[in-house]
Amino acid sequence: MKDKRVVVTGGAGFIGSHLVQELLRLGNEVVVIDTLLRGNKLPSEVMKQIEFHKTDVTNFEEMLRLTKGADIIYHFAAILGVDIVADNPIETMETEVNGMQSVANAAIENGIESIIYASTSGIYGHVAMESSVNEEILVDPRTSYAMAKRYNEIYLASLHEEKGIDSVALRFFNIYGVRQDNRMVIPRFIEQAAAGRPLTVYGTGKQTRDFTYVSDAVKASILLAEDVKGFEIYNIANEREKTIGELAVEIKELMNSSSEITFIDAPKKRYDYEVGRRYGSSEKLFAQTGYKPDTELKEGLTALLEMSK
Ligand code: UDP
Repeated sequence: MKDKRVVVTGGAGFIGSHLVQELLRLGNEVVVIDTLLRGNKLPSEVMKQIEFHKTDVTNFEEMLRLTKGADIIYHFAAILGVDIVADNPIETMETEVNGMQSVANAAIENGIESIIYASTSGIYGHVAMESSVNEEILVDPRTSYAMAKRYNEIYLASLHEEKGIDSVALRFFNIYGVRQDNRMVIPRFIEQAAAGRPLTVYGTGKQTRDFTYVSDAVKASILLAEDVKGFEIYNIANEREKTIGELAVEIKELMNSSSEITFIDAPKKRYDYEVGRRYGSSEKLFAQTGYKPDTELKEGLTALLEMSK
């Protein structure tokens, strides 16, 4: 992608900020829309190169005004993080549903080519217990967050049918990298290991996740925007399963930390969100773009630790 005018909602967030940097590097004009609710993860030199608006995506008038002349919208603004979502289920859903409506209506009125939407692998719920999941499998959204993301996928599919808007939904699998905050497990373990505090593994630590490096996720997100037709869903997964226990050991070793690894009960509010196994297939992504996430966890963690110094 080059010479496009690209709007990124949630561009000051973790994945959004990495996406913005890559879009700039490729020679695009970038407009960021973000409430800065969780702070601004965009480095100051990047702020100088973009058009920035502190606005809520649910504000339709503002979205209409700010997306004029754009070619593509990346709609990445969301309320997320298990603890925050569990405490604010209604606000989470409202931001998702109302935000998507306002983004979509602005896109229609302004004749924007396509919408790239950040969905979630959380939509799969417990269906990944037997094998890795592909986009065809019946999903199992159980939380306000996953349900609202699934609703928006269906909304985008319907929007194509009724209004001809082309779009893509990206089901991200546990993305990690520099600038992620400690709502998520990897930055939490790194913070604990750095402070010499115990690494708090929840439950048996046998639950698995498919940790995907943020630069790989951004690369996939940009490649998929090249040729958007109809409505399609893509997993963005590393296709490698790691248990949380293994993750703790890996981080402790890479950091030469003397921290203990403790196994404790997960906070009660996480119970609905906890799944025993989650890993995905990126075959569909590969078939479309010739690329799939290829950074192994150890390599990604090493890069992340180096950049955090
Ligand atoms: N986790 C953990 N200790 C922590 C935080 C998280 O063992 O201090 C586990 C959590 O139970 C889950 C996994 O790490 O199985 C990933 O959690 P995260 O909140 O990063 O993402 P999720 O996959 O739940 O959306």
